[in-house]
Amino acid sequence: QEVSPFLDPGPTTKPNSLAIVQLSRDNLLPIYLQEPKGEHDGYAEGAVVNTRYGSFPHSTLINVPWGSQIRASNVDTGSRGRKRKRPASDEGGGENGNERRDSDAQQSRGVKPAVAASSGFVHVLPPTPELWTTSLPHRTQVVYTPDYSYVLHRLRVRPGARLIEAGAGSGSFTHAAARAVYDGAGGSSTRGNRRGRVFSFEFHEQRYAKMRTELADHGLLDDVVRLTHRDVYRDGFLVDGESPEADAVFLDLPAPWEALPHLARQRPRESRSESLPDVAGEGDKTWVSPLNPKRSVYICTFSPCIEQVTRTVSTMRRLGWVDIEMVEIANRKLQVFRERIGLNIPLEKGANISPANVAEAVGRLAEIEDRFREHGGRPQASTTSAPSASKTAGNDKVSDSDNNNGDTPQGQSMEVDDDGDDDDDNNDGGRAEGSAARGSSATLYRSFLDGRLITRGEPEIKTHTSYLVFAVLPRTWTAEDEEAALRRWPCTV
Ligand code: SAM
Repeated sequence: QEVSPFLDPGPTTKPNSLAIVQLSRDNLLPIYLQEPKGEHDGYAEGAVVNTRYGSFPHSTLINVPWGSQIRASNVDTGSRGRKRKRPASDEGGGENGNERRDSDAQQSRGVKPAVAASSGFVHVLPPTPELWTTSLPHRTQVVYTPDYSYVLHRLRVRPGARLIEAGAGSGSFTHAAARAVYDGAGGSSTRGNRRGRVFSFEFHEQRYAKMRTELADHGLLDDVVRLTHRDVYRDGFLVDGESPEADAVFLDLPAPWEALPHLARQRPRESRSESLPDVAGEGDKTWVSPLNPKRSVYICTFSPCIEQVTRTVSTMRRLGWVDIEMVEIANRKLQVFRERIGLNIPLEKGANISPANVAEAVGRLAEIEDRFREHGGRPQASTTSAPSASKTAGNDKVSDSDNNNGDTPQGQSMEVDDDGDDDDDNNDGGRAEGSAARGSSATLYRSFLDGRLITRGEPEIKTHTSYLVFAVLPRTWTAEDEEAALRRWPCTV
């Protein structure tokens, strides 16, 4: 079976596989690339992605290296002699030397040369959990990257780990978890038969069905993610009657406290008050726990309201969970870019070099020299300076490749020390005084010519997402465990 493109996308895009088409920085389209089936399936070119930046036949997106920039095409609808040329988009694009790839792609697949390069462009990116989260069809609220990266880290989810997740919802968390537990095609990092797996549960029938199709299309179903249609409050977390032996649990449910009694090591006793269960002293030997008996189990619940947190924490305490802690992620994007001074000297052959632009360039060079001298030819000692009202005009465009995007980052800017080089720029807070004299001046001078690094933050934190409650259920320690430990590490006390 082919490895999921989420786990190993290979070097190029493939037919019948998922690709993320990036229209602009935050505008992403998930597309299943299809090879043209012939002239009569709508467009002569086969399936076409139509966007406000132009039309992109799938044939021009298949078998190209991931990250390629693809030019829009003038698409011929072809069938029955009816020809309709799409107007070339006047947005985005620019000359980028992609024409050759366009025509190569068409010829190698025998597509009519009716697809001519137009002006807009897109980038074709490999699917990752992060890009999927940004582009997936929402069926529910989803967990976003800042939250799930922190959650997976705190839950110690790593290759070979077994994770229970409920509810699956739109599958945003599931994809990130699948990548985290994946232990290679042969399960190289597993011990014995235990493979890394996500055991995902969803009780809403349509969501479950949609999620199943998506996971199958993404090459993740069964091998990496076991999806079960289940009300976990009522029926718990066993799969086909067997324990997932989970090392970690993530609950994104409206009432996590209702699911917690199923996540015990022994069957919880009937409630004594408020219908809250309690841990049984003796335990029921016929009851199967879904947890790994040999490890402490890490849990996270994800709830938007503090009342949900209170009930969850209270139930956790009664069920023997320890190290209970609540965290809220307040994510703020920082954009980092260079403030280029720009010498503005026309360098092309035959260009008109006027006294005015030479004077301007000389003035700017003098400005750079001054700044360079201010630092005594040596870098600043600190790594971050205070916010400054530095000149940032003209630098709003963060990425040269984002030509479809007129967005400008908002918020304050601040100047940071320029230590982007991994070479000997000695920008180490003064620890390399001696070597500072050795050749760092040229590097530093070059960095002044390149411009200062500027960071810009969003003016405020966007919104509250949810409260994360973390806890640990320690492993049980039996008399046999103690004997085995003493045999391994004899104790002389
Ligand atoms: N974490 C998901 C994501 O990142 O896409 C979103 C989860 S969504 C907020 C909550 C899901 O829990 C819903 O799809 C809902 O149907 C499911 N759910 C609610 N109660 C459930 C239960 N008792 N058993 C299983 N799933 C349940």
